[in-house]
Amino acid sequence: MKAAVFHKIGDISVDNVDDPKIEKPDDIVLKVTTTAICGSDLHIYDGFVPQLRDMVLGHEFMGIVEEVGPEVTRVKKGDRVVVPFTIACGQCFFCQQGFHPSCEHTNPEHYGPEGDLLKGKGGGMFGYTDLYGGYNGGQAEYVRVPHANVGPKIIPDGLSDEQVVFLTDIFPTGWSAVKWGKVKPGDTVVIFGSGPVGLMAQKAAWLNGAERVIAVDPLEYRLEKARTVNKVDTLNAGEDDLREKIYAMTNGRGADVAIDAVGMEANRSVGEKLKAVFNAEKGTSKVIEMCTEAVRRNGIVSVVGVYASPYDNFPIHRIFDKGLIMQFGQAQTHVYIDECFEMVRSGKVVLDDIITHRLPLSQASEAYDMFKHKTDDCVKVVLKPEL
Ligand code: NAD
Ligand code: ZN
Ligand code: ZN
Repeated sequence: MKAAVFHKIGDISVDNVDDPKIEKPDDIVLKVTTTAICGSDLHIYDGFVPQLRDMVLGHEFMGIVEEVGPEVTRVKKGDRVVVPFTIACGQCFFCQQGFHPSCEHTNPEHYGPEGDLLKGKGGGMFGYTDLYGGYNGGQAEYVRVPHANVGPKIIPDGLSDEQVVFLTDIFPTGWSAVKWGKVKPGDTVVIFGSGPVGLMAQKAAWLNGAERVIAVDPLEYRLEKARTVNKVDTLNAGEDDLREKIYAMTNGRGADVAIDAVGMEANRSVGEKLKAVFNAEKGTSKVIEMCTEAVRRNGIVSVVGVYASPYDNFPIHRIFDKGLIMQFGQAQTHVYIDECFEMVRSGKVVLDDIITHRLPLSQASEAYDMFKHKTDDCVKVVLKPEL
């Protein structure tokens, strides 16, 4: 089959690879109909999350069940499903508490006896390096889905792929960010990053009763997208008096909740952007720092942007002084997918209005290049194996 294969930093090509097979009795093999590129994929592309051998990329995908293992009861051949991006057993200590991204049974590399040093590193993810279990991903014609009685969600006819494909990751991620922020009616939420994840967090903030949503991004075309599709207020991240502007919009107090939907994207997009996000003199993440500034005292900072390296000068003094609550991590897609699906089904939210590019899988390499460099006003790319 054809698949987008990561070889080394900046080097992705669509290659012929072996077809996936049923390996465990509760596996399925899915024929992928739609898949997307995520900001998280770019961290692998850029080498921030290292991968030393070839691997099929892609953790955002959906498709038709092609083959089922003997113990699969939840889906059958021919079902159309969307699949959460983290792989989870559904049974272990963490899964039982809804923390599927910490699943103890999907990353043997890190939980086996010889993996003790890395114990606690995290669960499994599709197409997300050997650090997350080494599973091949879904930017491919076919993908093996382990623990198929736990993750896949059946999608009824009548909803197009594009309407629901973001249930795999970015909508539940925006939703998790908002839930972690305990957003409630009347709240003001400031969201750093207006890429796909930020845009989904904006939608989730409205749906959870926010009174005001402020999007911050250095890219004017992405702020324009935010204004058009989500009717939020916007501020350019490059403005000198950003903090004052946020205070002026929040009774001089700061936002109730600040969300980081940027993460390491920061230093990928070319030199000048690196300066925009990383506070070079202090060696810290400027976005985390801005979140702690922009939020009011006793507010919540919710971080879904991915960080994979340590930063000095974490603003611990401000976090203490302001009495902040902070939560970080991979989204709880398994927990929120039903609620998020219901929002789509009932028409309370539209997700596909952020798609700017639809390309055949065969053009994955060009698509990564465009999404990374944010050319052609690219916001979200979907890839179709059959185009
Ligand atoms: P993206 O790269 O398209 O978007 C990031 C946005 O941040 C861009 O629009 C960029 O211009 C903006 N930005 C850069 N510097 C900024 C600054 N100083 N202030 C405000 N905005 C700034 O990526 P994406 O797909 O939207 O993903 C965003 C982040 O979310 C990534 O780190 C990704 O890995 C992460 N992510 C996390 C989860 C999770 O489960 N926690 C799931 C999906 C994605
Ligand atoms: Zn993703
Ligand atoms: Zn588990």
